[in-house]
Amino acid sequence: MSSTDILVIGEHHNGKLRAVCLEMITAAHRLADEKGGEVVVAVPGSDVAGIASELARIEGVDRIVVVEHDELTPFLPGPWVGAVTSLIRNLDPSAVLLPSSITGRDYAARVSARLDVALVPDATGLTLDAGRLVATRVVLGGRVQTSVSFPGSAPALVTVAPGAFPRAEPGTSSAPIESIEVSIDPDDLRASLVEKSEHRAGAKGLTSAARIVSGGRGLGKAENFALVEELAEVLDAAVGASGATVGAGWRSHADQVGSTGHTVTPKLYLAVGISGAPQHLVGMSGADHIVAINRDPDAPIFKVASFGIVGDLFEVVPALIRQLKAMAD
Ligand SMILES: Cc1cc2nc3c(=O)[nH]c(=O)nc-3n(C[C@H](O)[C@H](O)[C@H](O)COP(=O)(O)OP(=O)(O)OC[C@H]3O[C@@H](n4cnc5c(N)ncnc54)[C@H](O)[C@@H]3O)c2cc1C
Repeated sequence: MSSTDILVIGEHHNGKLRAVCLEMITAAHRLADEKGGEVVVAVPGSDVAGIASELARIEGVDRIVVVEHDELTPFLPGPWVGAVTSLIRNLDPSAVLLPSSITGRDYAARVSARLDVALVPDATGLTLDAGRLVATRVVLGGRVQTSVSFPGSAPALVTVAPGAFPRAEPGTSSAPIESIEVSIDPDDLRASLVEKSEHRAGAKGLTSAARIVSGGRGLGKAENFALVEELAEVLDAAVGASGATVGAGWRSHADQVGSTGHTVTPKLYLAVGISGAPQHLVGMSGADHIVAINRDPDAPIFKVASFGIVGDLFEVVPALIRQLKAMAD
């Protein structure tokens, strides 16, 4: 690997490629084109041959590196820190893009600490300035945008926010696939997974859902989330929640959308009784279509909404459910 190459750390779950991986490839391809290096995509995990060949056909990928190890699936941060650190030392890339997913956030900072290099989290833009990587990120709950460069720290480590780049598509050629052995220190194997149970939102996969119905404080109490759940059921959507409802204990943090929750990029995001605080908007503004139901015509959510319904959600949502059910019959 040459020191102008960009390394993308692949993200997959239950044998399926995560969208953020294709988004990182777009970002890496643009940088590599400008810099003159290659895009190398690493696929850590066990039994990842299928994922590797899927990625090899993606436009912009120059090389696939498979990192097979039994300890890498199911995900635990310890072995991933060991494997990814060992891989970066071995390949010596100029920059490493990691997903700003729940798992990526879990191991990226530890990798940067172990390599003693700088990490910029949650990048929404990546450019080059005189050959140096500059990452853009949104801070202070979406109010301020910063640009950060990496003088005197290499490789540049960046976690990429989901939805920040378009997804790379399959191309006409297939990139070569090679395997690399990594060493995982016994100290990285000190924790083991005892049990895993899927949460309802997790089961639908908030971050990969095509449709999301999210509820806010306008619902008045936890029990009224039943209305959001019913609408989600009719639309075959995942259920999300605002920070205020999570703070009130109405929903679990796993459902939260926003700066301290999930960043989502569905085709449809339906916000029910959500005001549209900057911390919420930063997590869902990337949706293709935003529909907001709020009784306050001045609610900030209407500024980002493609369609807005000003009205009482306790009237609007049941009417919507009736109408959608009638259309399905
Ligand atoms: C550091 C930090 C991090 C944060 N992270 C997040 C985050 O990740 N995600 C997040 O969402 N928030 C986050 N917040 C909280 C955020 O600032 C807002 O407080 C929160 O998003 C508000 O949630 P809400 O829109 O549900 O409630 P509100 O702002 O109270 O809005 C309720 C809305 O419901 C409407 N309404 C009321 N009754 C009805 C009715 N009957 N019919 C129709 N509409 C009705 C009202 O007009 C209002 O607009 C964070 C805050 C901080 C300080």
